[in-house]
Amino acid sequence: MSHSSQQVWEDFFKRYYWENILELAKNYPEKRSLSIEFSDLERFDMELAHELIDHPEASLKHANEALSGIDLPADVIFEKTHVRIVRLPERIQIRELRSENINKFIAIAGLIRKATEVRPKIINAAFKCQRCDHVTLVPQGEGKFVEPFECENDVCGRKGPFKLVHEESEFIDAQKLRVQESPDDLRGGEQPQTLDVDVDDDLAGIVAPGDRVVVSGILRSYQRSTAQGKSTFFDLVLDGISIDVEDKEFEEIEISKEEIDEILELGKDAEVYSKVIYSIAPSIYGYEEVKEAMALQLFSGIPKSLPDGTRIRGDVHILLVGDPGVAKSQLLRYGVRLAPRGIYTSGKSSTSAGLTATAVKDEFGEGRWTLEAGALVLADMGLACVDELDKMESDDRSSMHEAMEQQTISIAKAGIMATLKSRCALLGAANPKFGRFDRYEPIAKQINMPPALLSRFDLIFILTDEPSVGRDTAIAEHILKAHYAGELSVRRENVLNSGIEAEEITKAMEVIQPVIQADMLRKYIAYTKRNIFPIIQDDARKQLIDFYLSLRKQGEDPNSPVPVTARQLEALIRLAEASARVRLSNVITTEDTTRVIRIVMASLKQVMTDPETGRLDADIINVGISKSQKDRIKILKEIIRDLQEEYKSSVPLEDIISKAEESGIKKDTVEDMLQKLKAVGEILEVTNEKFRVV
Ligand code: ADP
Ligand code: MG
Repeated sequence: MSHSSQQVWEDFFKRYYWENILELAKNYPEKRSLSIEFSDLERFDMELAHELIDHPEASLKHANEALSGIDLPADVIFEKTHVRIVRLPERIQIRELRSENINKFIAIAGLIRKATEVRPKIINAAFKCQRCDHVTLVPQGEGKFVEPFECENDVCGRKGPFKLVHEESEFIDAQKLRVQESPDDLRGGEQPQTLDVDVDDDLAGIVAPGDRVVVSGILRSYQRSTAQGKSTFFDLVLDGISIDVEDKEFEEIEISKEEIDEILELGKDAEVYSKVIYSIAPSIYGYEEVKEAMALQLFSGIPKSLPDGTRIRGDVHILLVGDPGVAKSQLLRYGVRLAPRGIYTSGKSSTSAGLTATAVKDEFGEGRWTLEAGALVLADMGLACVDELDKMESDDRSSMHEAMEQQTISIAKAGIMATLKSRCALLGAANPKFGRFDRYEPIAKQINMPPALLSRFDLIFILTDEPSVGRDTAIAEHILKAHYAGELSVRRENVLNSGIEAEEITKAMEVIQPVIQADMLRKYIAYTKRNIFPIIQDDARKQLIDFYLSLRKQGEDPNSPVPVTARQLEALIRLAEASARVRLSNVITTEDTTRVIRIVMASLKQVMTDPETGRLDADIINVGISKSQKDRIKILKEIIRDLQEEYKSSVPLEDIISKAEESGIKKDTVEDMLQKLKAVGEILEVTNEKFRVV
């Protein structure tokens, strides 16, 4: 040790960073940090670099002293500058931090999960002796506030009392962050681990929850205390020295030259669509349409920024609604596995931040407000798979609109005002409230989701579990084959001389083997998202417009429902862009538009068909009630109103029923509707079974 000294650092700065220092002098004191690339330090002096890693405390002290003591040509004195070392060659996974890393200089990568408000922290406290008025300065470290033991004044020397003098004390901005391991570093549904980071001065307030960062700093440990006193266990905290924010989509995914060749080859393959579809959840039988939609979601449309500052999302949102046990959750889990930056969570949510974000005053912030990112923020630039969406918290429900459309989440609570990014695609699953899906009830009501939110999904699929011999047999066989293959392989692994050949297992596994391996598919997706930005051709554009207009036309007749809205048109465009990307095409052709019209129609037919008329009706999704229902309400209210006029008083139930039956509304329906209208206050039950329109 002790190669490092103020002199060595000064030499280094002068040789490698003189320009940057002059620049800093120009902007001082607004700018106070000098960023140093670790590789420059290595080139200058290997030993110095190693010493920084092993003894960061002393090294950085020398470095900071060297910087503030440097002779500047300008009339500036560096008093509060910081040397910030960036880009360490090695990053340590949070879960792999061990005691040997304590007090070392390390770098970690992850997501900001929580951040407190930026608040002043005292670093040099001035105490005035109440007896002699002498002021004693006490430097403050991390943790406990230190008061003087006795008055510095020799003549006095008494033990106080002392009073803190704010004006003469020195404060610095400080913030506490919690960094969580990046989902890409987790395999097979592991729970992410976290590390708390303390940052101060100009590092405070530069990151927000959801940001992807690389933080370097000195790993420190603090002794835990329990009710019985001090514990032998220590907690880890990183004393932050530098923060790099990564804002690129797929930086972590590296694609080799050979893999690019493979990707290009696959893109040319005429079978590429079915290959991709059969690589999504191969152990789940059927659902080709849903899988095709999921494929397009993974490849995603193109986000656009318009000159007026608005941003149009490229992400495709999909909702799976359906009976229990139809593999919804399984499909979601596969989605996470394939999507770069995929996150799986449940609407019930295990964390306090829920799906969007929350601001709370908790222990972490030691009484300060803390902003915590929820799943949609953590999945920024990725895919959020949210199971049991029907069970989401009401707070989330209200911020979901913004999260899905603008892809931001705004929080304004107490001292915290923030807009977090949630640029992710959403793959949601919802179970109907009453167990099974009822075709005659509006979806919104069944899954407890406001229609306005439902209309934000580009595609909704309803998966019902209706017994049918053909399909049931196929599913049963598929499931049994999958289990058989599993049994063979487990036996071979565990029993010596099992007599099972590897080929036998490979053959059995074939049915559930993806055509493209998950790892390759992730790279394929990452490659297209980085490189493929298709543009729509004239004939494809015309096809989309014609399709949209032909559906809209149905609504021109005032007696017909409006079949689609502009939202569906936007969905079509996004999906067509994704479709072109799948085959690495730079143009969107009628091949793409034909494909997505087919998928959108399949979804529309499932969710927007009015079961009473068989016609498409956008109001089922957008308003939560079909036109035929609305018409019936109108008729019923008119009946009551007419009878009311006639009787000059409220109307008995049986008269309403008999009149309604003349108009073709059944008795049960009438009773049901009356209850509902009464509940929303549109009619009154004046006395028992006598009604009046309000
Ligand atoms: P949900 O979330 O819809 O209630 P799950 O995803 O939990 O259903 O699925 C229940 C089980 O049934 C899973 O183990 C799944 O693999 C199996 N299963 C259901 N449908 C299929 C299918 N079509 N193909 C293969 N397995 C299926
Ligand atoms: Mg489920």
